[in-house]
Amino acid sequence: MSTTMVVNRALFDEVMVPNYAPASVIPVRGQGSRVWDQNEREYIDFAGGIAVSSLGHCHPALVSALKQQADKLWHLSNVLTNEPALRLAKKLVDATFADKVYFANSGAEANEAAFKLARRWALDKFGEHKQQIISFGKSFHGRTFFTVTVGGQASYSDGFGPKPGGVVHAEFNNLDSVKALISDNTCAIVVEPIQGEGGIIPAEPAFLQGLRELCDQHNALLVFDEVQTGVGRTGKLYAYMNYGVTPDILTTAKSLGGGFPIGAMLTSNPIASHLKVGTHGSTYGGNPLACAVAEAVIDTINTPEVLAGVLQNEQLFRECLAEVNNQYQVFTEVRGQGMLLGAVLNEKYRGRARDFFLAAADQGLMALVAGPDVIRFAPSLVITERDIREGMQRFAAAVKQVVEA
Ligand SMILES: *Cc1c(COP(=O)(O)O)cnc(C)c1O
Repeated sequence: MSTTMVVNRALFDEVMVPNYAPASVIPVRGQGSRVWDQNEREYIDFAGGIAVSSLGHCHPALVSALKQQADKLWHLSNVLTNEPALRLAKKLVDATFADKVYFANSGAEANEAAFKLARRWALDKFGEHKQQIISFGKSFHGRTFFTVTVGGQASYSDGFGPKPGGVVHAEFNNLDSVKALISDNTCAIVVEPIQGEGGIIPAEPAFLQGLRELCDQHNALLVFDEVQTGVGRTGKLYAYMNYGVTPDILTTAKSLGGGFPIGAMLTSNPIASHLKVGTHGSTYGGNPLACAVAEAVIDTINTPEVLAGVLQNEQLFRECLAEVNNQYQVFTEVRGQGMLLGAVLNEKYRGRARDFFLAAADQGLMALVAGPDVIRFAPSLVITERDIREGMQRFAAAVKQVVEA
């Protein structure tokens, strides 16, 4: 490494493809829910790397799992299996509706596998006609061409030539809009139990129940994209457990790795059997390093104490946000569940979520937006009361900054 190299934001523009617009600060280390930049400035992390750092930064259990595995075995490919993958799969199966697991490296890859499996299942069982996938406006399922096409924002899928066909979009939380589209040609309905990127919009229980019934009536698979809601974020291991509606396929990523890239698709035996040898795969999917870390994540999060703590943290977040709002009147409501919350800006501040996000960074707080009108919080599930209270003081200062500007 060259000692003369100046590593700063300007270097980004020089050497990186311009598809991102990162902030000018460059964090260099983190501990729990605190992060420090190149100038030793401290930030409280209410963003969690977009709902990924489920146990904060450098959690001892995850560091230990990673270091231990790093000294043993990094990679084999799927020509061979490995112990961490088998252990993790067993724990996911034991903790959920699923009988089988497929490992990928990201949320988009987990969804890609889910959509291909749904198509293959339908083709094998019913024939060529059964290809339609129904998803929802504003939904987000990843950035591969298939997943971005299933996603509900045309601006993400337009401009890349012909899209994969057979995908239609209904309106989220509107069962009639699904009834108008579904037929025996439908192979799957794909839905986020809480739309994340779309603005932290929870599905109504009757809506998910209705989707389940429509899928059963039309021999279609119900796919829950729990990439953002999964692994304890809503106070249950998976959000479907809050709704009492069981999907046929579930995808999980983000929080699953606690910051190490991994994704997984979970399903039942009869459906899994259609992904026969050679039908799908990944060089890195299920690699020992990722699976060792994810196993430690599941071991740590899937306990009554941690899951109950997520709901206690939610209470405190909601109380603090209510206080901020009493003082400054900026939100209409706070949506979401557990450590996935969205403060919805009122008429006066509509479209200005990014201003609040930037002011928060000024005040030493990392937050997120979910569209132009929602400030999103997706912190560590085990964030301390002290970090929440101090972070909220910084947030209040940020809101003051915007309101009084
Ligand atoms: C983030 C996200 C994805 C994509 O995950 P990547 O790891 O970025 O590929 C898919 N679905 C949902 C609901 C997400 O929030």
